[in-house]
Amino acid sequence: MNNIVPHTYQVTKKDRNVKNGHSSFLLWFTGLSGSGKSTIANAVESELLKRNISTYTLDGDNIRKGINKDLSFSPDDRTENIRRIAEVSNLFIDAGIVVLAAFVSPYTKDRARIKEIVGRNNFIEVYVNTSLEECEQRDVKGLYKKARQGEIKNMTGIDAPYEAPTNPDIEVKTEELDVDAAVKKIMNLIEKIIKNE
Ligand code: ADP
Repeated sequence: MNNIVPHTYQVTKKDRNVKNGHSSFLLWFTGLSGSGKSTIANAVESELLKRNISTYTLDGDNIRKGINKDLSFSPDDRTENIRRIAEVSNLFIDAGIVVLAAFVSPYTKDRARIKEIVGRNNFIEVYVNTSLEECEQRDVKGLYKKARQGEIKNMTGIDAPYEAPTNPDIEVKTEELDVDAAVKKIMNLIEKIIKNE
């Protein structure tokens, strides 16, 4: 590590942000499985695309099948999963992209670490707050049923904890707000941040 001397790049994040005409940051969606993280993140991304904002979404599909395919759902591996996602997000932010990340991310300490990795000003925490009862009723992926039957271990909400954010930047209660209303709420908050190159 001692011999890694950082190169001074000629093109900086600031240059990329000016070229794109918008800032770059991480919009982090946390909540139980089936709470609506991916649905809302995708709808926000579509809205951003309409405004010509450069975006990318990180989720279980593109991360767990690729860079993190060696990781399980044990507490240690969940922590490493989030750390790597935060580092990948950091690269995207540096590249000038608005990153949307939809992960259960059940531990407060792991979410605090994301903030440290990408920097407080680049991190917006969206708590997708849906009750376990509702998530279990939706059971989008059939995971809750399997967990109840003991076929899946370490299922957040069933036999693994979810530590809800106490002070999220945005809270979306999906049993009260539909997807469009959730998108509006999020867009309202990020509108000013996006313009700030
Ligand atoms: P997650 O990414 O959190 O695991 P998903 O977005 O995959 O959750 O699934 C959430 C499910 O809940 C979808 O089938 C979605 O249509 C449904 N849903 C119902 N109401 C809402 C809402 N207000 N916001 C987001 N999703 C909702």
